[in-house]
Amino acid sequence: MNFSAKIPFSKIFLYIDSRIGKIDPHNLEKFFEEKTSTEVELEENFLQNKNRKGLARRVVYTKVRDKRERKFKKPLPKEVDLEKKVIEEDKELLGIIYDGHRLVKLLRGLLSQDEKENHTIIITKRLFGTLEMNESRYHIRTVINSIPSIISTSGIVEGPAKPRKYYFTDKDERDEILDFRPMTYSDERMETAVKSYLLQTVFWRLLGDPSCDKEGCRLYNSHWQRELIENQIKGELCEEHKDRLQQFKKR
Ligand SMILES: [Zn+2]
Repeated sequence: MNFSAKIPFSKIFLYIDSRIGKIDPHNLEKFFEEKTSTEVELEENFLQNKNRKGLARRVVYTKVRDKRERKFKKPLPKEVDLEKKVIEEDKELLGIIYDGHRLVKLLRGLLSQDEKENHTIIITKRLFGTLEMNESRYHIRTVINSIPSIISTSGIVEGPAKPRKYYFTDKDERDEILDFRPMTYSDERMETAVKSYLLQTVFWRLLGDPSCDKEGCRLYNSHWQRELIENQIKGELCEEHKDRLQQFKKR
């Protein structure tokens, strides 16, 4: 990277896709300001905001074509046209997964110097996944801590798995076999979940480590829906992380 990120950062740039379920951007802005005592600049629709010639094509280039391989394909004209529409009109795009690492790299190139040096977070409806060296297939991610950090509300629904038996039960009986409510797209708890992931991005940016192994901490690295509900929704920061955040606030 040919820039140096400021630690601690002095400003937060928060981009939020419009019309995400039950999320109120101003609540997230307030939450962030209160938790970090840092000025938050709230913006809408990152890609629309930074749109330029050729961007749609580059976005399509990050599309996952095969869940078992990190192989990318030259975009077809109709895919690019569709992506253009999605960016320009902020349309909903279902069923497409983007390669998280590629996507972040692309987004980074669109940041201003100020956004690169400080802390920029993009909250999106788009689904992204990663395929790491030791994995056999892509995994949907809730968050990627990077410059910029990206959080996916669809990823919060689709990423952390439900118990195995859920997938082997008929659709109309599924909800009855669980003793908790997994996240849904129009979930009223989405804002709380997003707040937890916002905190993760801050800790990543400050300490290089976004997660915590203490159960009940909002930074717990949840792989299952049940864990997500217990930690990101019902959890609080553990004492250690509360202290850390307090130190940052007092800087
Ligand atoms: Zn913790």
